[in-house]
This record gives sequence, structure tokens and C-alpha cells, in this order.
Amino acid sequence: MSRGIYRPGIELHCHSNCSDGSLPPDEVMRHLRRCGVRVAALTDHDSVEGLELARSTAAELGLGFINGCEFSALHQGQVIHVVALDFDPAEPRIQRLLHAAGESRAERARGLCAALTAAGFPVSWEEALAEQPRAEAIGRPHLAQILIRKGLCADFDDAIGKLMEPGRPAHVPETWIELRDLLPRLKEAGATSVMAHPGRYRFSTEGRRGFFRAFKEWGGDAVEILCGQGSGTDVQRFGSLALRMELKISAASDFHHKSKWGRPNHYLFDIPPRWQDKLLWLGKSWDPDNFPAPEFVAAAGPAEA
Ligand code: AMP
Ligand code: MN
Ligand code: MN
Ligand code: MN
Repeated sequence: MSRGIYRPGIELHCHSNCSDGSLPPDEVMRHLRRCGVRVAALTDHDSVEGLELARSTAAELGLGFINGCEFSALHQGQVIHVVALDFDPAEPRIQRLLHAAGESRAERARGLCAALTAAGFPVSWEEALAEQPRAEAIGRPHLAQILIRKGLCADFDDAIGKLMEPGRPAHVPETWIELRDLLPRLKEAGATSVMAHPGRYRFSTEGRRGFFRAFKEWGGDAVEILCGQGSGTDVQRFGSLALRMELKISAASDFHHKSKWGRPNHYLFDIPPRWQDKLLWLGKSWDPDNFPAPEFVAAAGPAEA
């Protein structure tokens, strides 16, 4: 299949320190601008806290801005992430979703502190709050950071993957909204819903087909076929399946830290040119005169690492 290196100039999935990213929202916008991004969404986990600052900074920088939030949900017992875009954060349905998610997050964080401590990896509630002062925004990476600093875990994978995932010694059951309830509500609230990082969910081939179909039926709009470290196989596999279900395709970085995705070339994506018109396009969010169409800057070649 013919391929091309695509420069969308758009970033539809990234995090600030309002959730588990390391930069404040204004610094995220400055970083993206330096990376050549022209339109950005800030999509913190279950939070819209950073949108105002991100939006005003983006305006100063001449960067297009889209409201965003990465919601956590459950489907067949698995945690699924949905990137909601282009909505009014004050909309009452959105506010109710955020309130419930915040309560779940704070409760889970307390549970995780107790479970980690009981498993021999002590983290106090005070330490957790020192890492992220808003209880409703505490995530597993904050607790992982504490364990790494104490020398009790080697890295995030060691702390999250080996301790806090289902079946691990300090797992705490998740209490997020069901995906089948989340998607219709996001639609009613006027948001565009994107399935985040499909490669992270465990399904059989048949199960994944059913999952994509349900995502569409319940009101989903698009699927990230490239997100952060996604491989070429994922692009083909998830792209074909998304298009078969009449879902749009999206590409984004899932930026959390400069160290990992600090290079401008990360914003070059390797996807088949013939899918260009299938890309999620939020044209109403900015003036198209100021936002040239995405371009293919090179043919073939390896994807950017
Ligand atoms: P939470 O929303 O609190 O469950 O935390 C999920 C976040 O943890 C993800 O968005 C990633 O930023 C991070 N994360 C999860 N698993 C890993 C892992 N194995 N290695 C590094 N980061 C991870
Ligand atoms: Mn995260
Ligand atoms: Mn995610
Ligand atoms: Mn994310």
C-alpha cells in the first residue's frame, strides 16, 4: 500500500499537570507551538481545569485551540479511554460527567494508597496530595512517581503495570461510567468522541470488531490509529477496521512529558495518503483560511521513532 509522511499540524490528544502531564497548560501550548503544531486540543484525564489557560495562551501564540478531555469508561470490565473534543465545558451534562469521574478518581486514589501500603509499597494520602493537590485529579502515574522517587519501583511500568493493573497486588477496581452510557451523553452534549489508543485494549479479533461496532452505534466518531508509540501494524489494522465501521480516523501524540515526545518530528505521521479525507476534521473550530489542509511531506520511508 502506498504510504506517506503526513504533517497534520494538529495535536488532538495531550496532557498538562492538570492531570498526569508534567507541564502546566500554558507551557504545553508553547511546547506544541515550537513543535510546529498549528491547532491543538488539551485533553487532560477527566478534567477541563486547564482549558481556559491553554486557550488564552494559544490565542497569544496564534495557535488554534479545541476544548478537550480524556474520559475514562468501562466496557466489558476493561478501562477504555475516550478523547472528547470540541464541547462547552460548562455544559451541564459535561459537568455531571466530570463530577462523577472526579469522585471516582479521588476514591480510587485513597484506595490505591491503602492497597499499595498494604502490599509493602507505602504511599500516604499526604504524599499523594503533595504530588497532585487536587484529589479528583490524582492518577496512578502520580503514585508511581512517589514509588520511583523512594526507590521502591524502577519505572512507571514497574509501578503501574506490575502493581496496580488488574490481577496485581495493589489493584483497586475501577468505578468509571460504562462506555455505552458515556458515548450518548457526550454526543448529546455536542462533543466529538475519539477512541483513544485502541492498541491498549485486549480483545480477540472478533471481540475487537464488536467493540468498534458498538463504539460507532453508541455515538463514537473516530479512532486513533496512531497514538504515541503506535506501530505501523496498528495503523493498518485499526484504520481498516475503523473505516469499515464508518468511523473517522485520528492521529495524535498522547503527550505527557517533554522527555518522551519532545521532538518536533513526532508530529509527522506515517499513514496511507488515500485515507487523508477520512481524517477527523473539526473544521468548525477554527477559521479554515488560517489553517491550511494537512500535507504529505514525503513518500514512504520509516515512521518517525
Ligand atoms: P489512570 O487514569 O490514573 O488510571 O492512569 C492512566 C495513565 O497512566 C495513562 O494515561 C498513562 O499516562 C499512565 N500509564 C498507564 N500504564 C502505564 C505504563 N505501563 N507505563 C507508563 N505509563 C502508564
Ligand atoms: Mn495519562
Ligand atoms: Mn489514555
Ligand atoms: Mn492520554
